[in-house]
Amino acid sequence: MAADAFRTQVRDWIADHFPTALAGRGVPTDDEILDDDRLAWRAAFGATGWGVPTWPTAYGGAGLGRAEARIIAQELTAAHAYNPIGGMGVIMLGPTLLEYGTELQKLRHLPPIARGEIRWCQGFSEPGAGSDLASLQCRAEDRGDHFLLNGQKIWTSYADLADWCFCLVRTDTSKKQGGISFVLFDMRQSGVEVRPIRLISGDSPFCETFLSDVRAEKDDLVGDLNGGWGIAKRLLQHERSAISDSGDIMAGGVSLVEIAREAVGLDDDGRLADPDLRARIIQNEMEQKLVELTLARVAAEARAGHVGGSASSILKNAGVRAFQDRAELIVEAKGLQGLGWEGDGFSEQELTLVREWLHGKAWSIFGGSDEVQNNIIAKQILGLPS
Ligand SMILES: Cc1cc2nc3c(=O)[nH]c(=O)nc-3n(C[C@H](O)[C@H](O)[C@H](O)COP(=O)(O)OP(=O)(O)OC[C@H]3O[C@@H](n4cnc5c(N)ncnc54)[C@H](O)[C@@H]3O)c2cc1C
Repeated sequence: MAADAFRTQVRDWIADHFPTALAGRGVPTDDEILDDDRLAWRAAFGATGWGVPTWPTAYGGAGLGRAEARIIAQELTAAHAYNPIGGMGVIMLGPTLLEYGTELQKLRHLPPIARGEIRWCQGFSEPGAGSDLASLQCRAEDRGDHFLLNGQKIWTSYADLADWCFCLVRTDTSKKQGGISFVLFDMRQSGVEVRPIRLISGDSPFCETFLSDVRAEKDDLVGDLNGGWGIAKRLLQHERSAISDSGDIMAGGVSLVEIAREAVGLDDDGRLADPDLRARIIQNEMEQKLVELTLARVAAEARAGHVGGSASSILKNAGVRAFQDRAELIVEAKGLQGLGWEGDGFSEQELTLVREWLHGKAWSIFGGSDEVQNNIIAKQILGLPS
């Protein structure tokens, strides 16, 4: 279908299906209990496959190219709507299963992700294995048709809300990286104990996860036994690329320029009235654009068969920096209205963006810290000695 015709189809469909009560409310937070409007929107959008537009239709996607995917994203933003299909299943596990999963695994696990029905969590980090992830100790014992998992994970984001977990386990103690396997297991079984870690703000975005004789089916071993390290690295590349591509999600799709225009006004020439803020916003917009263009180039190279994996480390650091600078600029442009935590004096959007600004600080840690990305860039891309 021609691009214009597809755009019209998407626009009309959104106008018919997006509940007006949700306009401008942005993507729900990970722990938000979804009201009827949000649930209806997720069900309708999930059924189109447009939540994961480039996934094959056999696995719940829409089988579209990146150009059509971009049109869908643009039309959602224009309608002050959002893509309700997201989470770790979409950005991390899905692309990994598409590459490494068996046909059975793809048919079983991908469609529920595409419909937004199953929430996944990431069981990688352990108390003694963060940056040095390959030190992980959580054991998986071979019991014929299944594995029994014992050990502890930490910083497991939203494990308390998750249905399933993709997890790194030790299946051979004689090798470090070469003794790690990648398994999937059902979080809703006895033996999985989740303790939310409460932060000073009162939130509990992540958990300690204890595994005692937890069952993972052999069918849910992804890749070869002891071959999990390469798959984990690939998944982390997807995570890092997704993090670097998140720059325009602030404040429910409202642009930094719009926010600044509203906050500081325009001069006689129709430009932002504060020249210093204007210059820094332009700089940030250029950096954001550079990240977007580089992401598009890396995606095009990947389609042409060139695996540029380690570039995701550059993109993660550059994307996170642009995102954090942008969050600072939004808060600065808003002035006192950008520093509200609660109360009637602040709009819902203002309360959301101050939380996004603070949460943005964690972005240089998860998915591997800035320093760890710099190490990968030094070793894998620049060829410097370790
Ligand atoms: C908000 C948030 C959500 C998270 N969600 C998840 C999740 O869902 N699942 C999951 O498995 N994990 C999750 N994590 C964990 C995250 O991946 C780790 O925090 C991260 O990899 C760093 O590990 P660590 O906390 O053990 O810190 P450490 O590894 O102890 O690092 C401490 C400091 O030392 C630096 N450092 C360490 N090694 C080196 C080195 N070789 N060279 C230079 N500097 C170094 C680090 O950069 C860091 O500044 C999450 C973390 C955060 C903050």
